[in-house]
Amino acid sequence: MKFTVALIPGDGIGPDIVKEAVRVLDAVALTYGHEVTYKHLIAGGEAIDQTGQPLPEETLKEASSSDAVLLGAVGGPKWDNVPSSLRPEKALLGLRGGMGLFCNLRPALLYSQLADACPLRSELVEGGLDVMVVRELTGGIYFGKRGRSEDGAYDTMSYTKSEIERIARKAFEIAMKRKKKVTSVDKANILETSRLWRATVEEVAKDYPEVELNHLYVDNASMQLVRNPKQFDVILTENMFGDILSDEASMITGSIGMLPSASLRSDSFGMYEPIHGSAPDIAGQDKANPLATILSVAMMLRYTFSLQKEADAVEEAVRKTLDDGWRTADIFSEGTKLCGTRAMGDAVVSNIR
Ligand code: NAD
Repeated sequence: MKFTVALIPGDGIGPDIVKEAVRVLDAVALTYGHEVTYKHLIAGGEAIDQTGQPLPEETLKEASSSDAVLLGAVGGPKWDNVPSSLRPEKALLGLRGGMGLFCNLRPALLYSQLADACPLRSELVEGGLDVMVVRELTGGIYFGKRGRSEDGAYDTMSYTKSEIERIARKAFEIAMKRKKKVTSVDKANILETSRLWRATVEEVAKDYPEVELNHLYVDNASMQLVRNPKQFDVILTENMFGDILSDEASMITGSIGMLPSASLRSDSFGMYEPIHGSAPDIAGQDKANPLATILSVAMMLRYTFSLQKEADAVEEAVRKTLDDGWRTADIFSEGTKLCGTRAMGDAVVSNIR
């Protein structure tokens, strides 16, 4: 297979971690007979320095015409005082909105080798944890009309049926490849958008009779996530609830440097990135954990290129690397082997070959 991947390393540790992820993708291509071409693009602080804009038109155009995008992270103290319309993070919203990426996938995966990092009691996560949060990304209250009145302010939440339908369909399709269980999260006892959400999800569910569907109110869901996280397979929810629940779910795994994410549209195109930021405190010091970005490559192989075997190979190589005892500083514990960004990349690459 031949494909073109746009690389947007960004700022801080972005270049360090994207470099290792690219080496892993190259190793997969070599091992399984694929041909990858890269486009090197700028966004975030680097782009502000070079062009005055966090998201140059050229970047959006070239990224959109690739098969997939791999992003590191953007931002840092150098750009903290630029006007808000020019902040590096604007590049992320611009890329997601500009490419119509309405579906955000955030797996919360607890590796048994890192179980100590989990803040919950060990019996709650025994045997590991694997939850996928499917969050609607381009609708809801973050995109509704907002404003100020004389002595107040308002934000509006609205959803169309088709917006709900397309994200629900993604969630059910993903559940079909996993444990076939969807938990739809809303606030249907209060919100009208939630009542439409629930009715629409019920309708979509009819096309997936093998998938078990249940509904939870968001307050209950946030409690259940820490009370009994293993009850979940796929959590489907709207934009703001998903923002909060996906952070909660990822914290259960305890290691921000381990978690990938994907933002997808209806076809196979997607943007893949670690959930963490640009970690300016450790940038350029060979200290960053590249595994979240490497696991983002696994998601790219699975969701954009439908290369299951190759995606499994990357995840297996990461597991083997942890089994062999390699740890960057953020996941280091006594009795394991401390390594840097580059050495972690080396270990994963050699486990793929
Ligand atoms: P952060 O995620 O960058 O860092 C939080 C802490 O986690 C830091 O101590 C950092 O060293 C550590 N950390 C993060 N990723 C790591 C990794 N791969 N390996 C080892 N340690 C890691 O969050 P922050 O400090 O709040 O933000 C720093 C900058 O990143 C800010 O400018 C923020 O706006 C930006 N940011 C960008 C994104 C993005 O590009 N998607 C997301 C969040 C924050």
